[in-house]
Amino acid sequence: MLVLAHWDTRPWGDQDAFNKKTLIDGADDGGSGIGVMIELARQFKLKHPAVGVDLLFNDVEDYGVSEVEDSYCLGTQYWAKNPHVKGYKANYGILLDMVGGRGSQFFMEGFSKRDAYQPMKMFWDVANQLGYSQFRYENPQDAAITDDHYYVNTLTGIPTFDIIALQPNGSFVPHWHTANDNMQIIDKNTLKAVGQTLMQVLYVNPMAY
Ligand SMILES: [Zn+2]
Repeated sequence: MLVLAHWDTRPWGDQDAFNKKTLIDGADDGGSGIGVMIELARQFKLKHPAVGVDLLFNDVEDYGVSEVEDSYCLGTQYWAKNPHVKGYKANYGILLDMVGGRGSQFFMEGFSKRDAYQPMKMFWDVANQLGYSQFRYENPQDAAITDDHYYVNTLTGIPTFDIIALQPNGSFVPHWHTANDNMQIIDKNTLKAVGQTLMQVLYVNPMAY
């Protein structure tokens, strides 16, 4: 099993209405997924999960420009072409990207549905069984995001889905790539919904799909 998130933060908030060149905190975009993974690592030390889990901390995810193809996710592209173990494989992968924002909803992202629908559906089922109804089965605008999982899927063949906060219209959440992506936007209830579901999947029956 593979769990991954990016630990770099975009060095400028180009979606901000006022401060487009100022360094942003990236508490949600980058920080939240890494926070969940660090807590997972702490839990793994206390009790081993049901399967082996690799935690992958990706760099240089968020330095891209939308006009230039393949300019995002540089660390993942490099890793997928030069894995740490030759021929590295995992049953499936879970990408955490923007998993801590207040009121966040997680719609079924398009590339994830295309390449990793079964494990994603299982994850969403477990989340909803636990009462975390912010995991939504629909994707009203068929939003597909070229995030780290896209390159894991296309370059390694490991089916990987993305847990990423989106709006029902398929847009990123309003604090995305703005100065508002700071600790004020982080809600422990959102982190708990993601983290608790991950724990349930990894410790109880990660292959039940
Ligand atoms: Zn970003």
